Amino acid sequence: MSKKQPTSVVTGAAGFLGSHLADLLVARGHKVIGIDNFITGSVDNIAHLGGNPNFKFIQQDVTEFIFLTEPVNYVWHFASPASPFDYLNFPIQTLKVGSLGTHKALGLAKYKHARFLLASTSEIYGDPNVHPQPEEYWGNVNTIGPRGCYDEAKRFAEAMTMGYHREHKVQTRIVRIFNTYGPRMRLNDGRVVPAFVSQALKNKPVTVFGKGRQTRSFCYVSDLIEGIYRLMMSGYDLPVNIGNPTEMTMLQFAEEIIRVTKSKSKIAFKPLPQDDPKQRRPDITKARELLGWSPKVSLADGLRETIAYFSKKI
Ligand code: UDP
Repeated sequence: MSKKQPTSVVTGAAGFLGSHLADLLVARGHKVIGIDNFITGSVDNIAHLGGNPNFKFIQQDVTEFIFLTEPVNYVWHFASPASPFDYLNFPIQTLKVGSLGTHKALGLAKYKHARFLLASTSEIYGDPNVHPQPEEYWGNVNTIGPRGCYDEAKRFAEAMTMGYHREHKVQTRIVRIFNTYGPRMRLNDGRVVPAFVSQALKNKPVTVFGKGRQTRSFCYVSDLIEGIYRLMMSGYDLPVNIGNPTEMTMLQFAEEIIRVTKSKSKIAFKPLPQDDPKQRRPDITKARELLGWSPKVSLADGLRETIAYFSKKI
C-alpha cells in the first residue's frame, strides 16, 4: 500500500448511496473505512467488498463517539434513514443521526484534519415555493409534520457543518441530494421507485399517491456519486445541489414504469401523505459551473439497470 493512499471514512456505508460511494472510492484508490449500524442499511450492499484489503467495516451507531487509530483524509457523512417511510418508523434515530451523528463525524474530521462532506438533501427546501430550487432558496418546512424529523435534522446538520467550518476551520462540503434511484435501494423502503417497480413486476396495482400531479426529478445513482466525488475534491464550501433536472409527475412516472416493465398493472390512487412536496426539481447551475458536472444516464438506461436488480430480489 502506497503511503500516499488517501483514507476515507464513509458513515452509512451499508446504505444505498454509502455503498455505491464506497465502491467508487475503492476504485479511485482510496482506503475506505465504512461505518453502519444496519438500521436501514444491509450487509448485502457491501458483501462484495469483504476481504478487500482497501475496505474495512465497523458496525457502529455514529451518534456514539467514533474512535479510529489510523490517519483519515476524508469523512463522508451519509448515515441516516432516508425514505419518508423509514423516518416515520425511526423519527428519533433520524433526528439523532442528523444532529449527534453529524457532530461526531465533524469531530472526527476536526481531530484528523480531514475534509468533511455532509450528505444533505432537497428536503431542506420542504414543499418549495420557488421552482426549480436554487441553493439560495431557504425552504418551506413544517417543523412538526411527519417529515420534520428528517428535514430539520438535515437543516441542523448543515448549520453544524458551517459552524465547524467557521469556528474550527474544518474544510467542509455540503451536497443537497435530490431523488436518486438505482440498484441497492431497499425493495420495501416505501420510496416511489422500489414501490412502483416491484408492483409493476408483480402485475399488482401501482399505488399513485394523491392525483399523481406532484413532481419529482430522478437521478441515476452513478451520476449522483460522480457529482458528489467532484464536490468533495473541489474548493467550494457552500451547498451544491446534485440531481437530475428532468421533472415528471408521479402519474407520468407510474405509466412509464408500467410501460418499460411491460406490466399488466393498473394504477390505484391512494391518499396523498401529509406534507408531500408538490414539486421538486434541482437548479444544477452551480454543479455545472463549479464541478463541470451534469447527469449523463437517461431514465431509460437507469431504469433498465434498476429493474434488472429488482427482478432478482423479487
Ligand atoms: N409516491 C407514490 N406512490 C408510492 C410511493 C410514493 O405516488 O407508492 C409518491 C410520493 O407521494 C411522492 C413521490 O412519489 O410524491 C416520491 O416519493 P418518495 O417516497 O420516493 O420520496 P420523496 O421525494 O417524497 O421524499
